[in-house]
Amino acid sequence: MRLTDPTAGRIVYRGTDILGYSRRAFRPLRREIQMVFQDPGASLNPSMTIRQTLREPLKLHRLAQGNELEARLQETMRLVQLEPALLNRRADQLSGGQKQRVGIARAIASNPALVVLDEPTSSLDMSLRIVLLELLESLQERLGMTYLFITHDFSTVRHIADRVVVMYLGKVVESGPVDRILDDPKHPYTQALIAAIPIPEPRTRPRARLEGETPSALRPIAGCPFQDRCPHVMPECREGEIPTVEIAGRDVACLLYDGRGRRAEAPAASGAA
Ligand code: SF4
Repeated sequence: MRLTDPTAGRIVYRGTDILGYSRRAFRPLRREIQMVFQDPGASLNPSMTIRQTLREPLKLHRLAQGNELEARLQETMRLVQLEPALLNRRADQLSGGQKQRVGIARAIASNPALVVLDEPTSSLDMSLRIVLLELLESLQERLGMTYLFITHDFSTVRHIADRVVVMYLGKVVESGPVDRILDDPKHPYTQALIAAIPIPEPRTRPRARLEGETPSALRPIAGCPFQDRCPHVMPECREGEIPTVEIAGRDVACLLYDGRGRRAEAPAASGAA
């Protein structure tokens, strides 16, 4: 979204690094890439009606006006399963679940190709989370958008994702198809995250606890970013860049798998993890 500039890396969209784009070159992407924010209360202007909020992107990108614009607003409300009558309300007159639907409606109003969803369910209780995930799934099927879904809640990942990228301290530690990652995680951090997913019958699986605190991302770390919390840490984990290797259909950045480590296969997460 270019809301802030990255300190390193590239942003490749449709095969092109868009970091070098001027403001003018980036303008068409402002319609094509939309965002749903974590806290709908903070991201909606409480002094504006929902009609004004949803009208903004359509007017900004000159997508509709007059009767067509009003019809499109009503259709967008129906798509997110909100009564069009709510267009006359302000955000502070809506419930948390309704506000998040308005956030989604604002994102999809301009017919985007990519929607970045930043922890969209974290402010909702469990029953509303499931309803919202189902809504996102049906919208994706209907409108053919790609989602980039950012979450700390691994239990939602299987519902929404095709591919998963696991990051620790800003580094990608494991990535691949969702089933591979969730059913057979390889990186010790992914193993700990998945072992921590709440399950209905706790005695069927050992509960794992991730020891220690996440270090500050501001302090540069030589070697693996997960070294201070990893139960399999080796001296070589504290030196240089950790290479990414392909193993069993996914990419993993861990020395346990690159031939330098002690094992070709890391053990599954244990209670110690
Ligand atoms: S590289 Fe070393 S410290 Fe990092 S996850 Fe693998 S074993 Fe653990």
